[in-house]
Amino acid sequence: MSCITWNPWHGCHKISAGCAHCYVYRRDASIKKDASVVMRTKDFYLPMRRTRDGSYKIPGGSRLDTCFTSDFFVEEADKWRPEIWEMMKIRGDLSFFFITKRIERMEKCLPQDWGEKGYPNVSIACTVENQAMADKRLPVYLKAPLRSRSIVCSPLLERIDLKKYLAEDVTHLTAAGESGPEARVCDYEWVLDLRRQCVEAGTSFYFMQTGALFRKDGKLYRVERKIQHSQARKAGIDYSAPKKRPPDDQLPLFE
Ligand code: SF4
Repeated sequence: MSCITWNPWHGCHKISAGCAHCYVYRRDASIKKDASVVMRTKDFYLPMRRTRDGSYKIPGGSRLDTCFTSDFFVEEADKWRPEIWEMMKIRGDLSFFFITKRIERMEKCLPQDWGEKGYPNVSIACTVENQAMADKRLPVYLKAPLRSRSIVCSPLLERIDLKKYLAEDVTHLTAAGESGPEARVCDYEWVLDLRRQCVEAGTSFYFMQTGALFRKDGKLYRVERKIQHSQARKAGIDYSAPKKRPPDDQLPLFE
């Protein structure tokens, strides 16, 4: 399956501890752009673009990682989102995946025909970086009208107890440390603890990246950007749950 990043709008607002060193802000600052200004992009209609022979430019079966330089449910996008839902419906041959920190806004942002489990080609993951955000967002997320659920702990900022949430129908959990020059520590013991909870609950687990400041066995390592993913791979701790195996569209590929 080919994966394409689709950012129909760009820019966001920091809302919790996980946003402190947001890569959108970091990258925009490097080109003197204000990341807090939310704007539609030139790719807004990307899924609908056609080639000269009239076929869609993005072939059916592709996955679109959506809104990776913003949040799908950011307030400014309320006026644009109805068109996005419409495109997602028309392109039922594509799958769309996004991760949100604003799950509490989901209900008021859904289209009328979303139904009890949502459009079959749209997957929504919820991200939590610490215990407080897990306890705030996950009860809302677990009640949301969705057919599958996955949690993203990135950047992982502390040990998080997710046992009571994983017992529900969460198929997949991703853990990752923080990258960038101001990265906060990610402790390997927190990662292993999440993995233990996943194995117990029968939830698939994916260690995506170490982050730039990684503590293992009490020793602190500064990890170069280019090897943060490969070091996580080397740890060899991913776990594929036999019963709650995640569909491909639940596996985040973002950095
Ligand atoms: S919600 Fe995501 S994109 Fe928005 S500021 Fe926070 S980390 Fe950045």
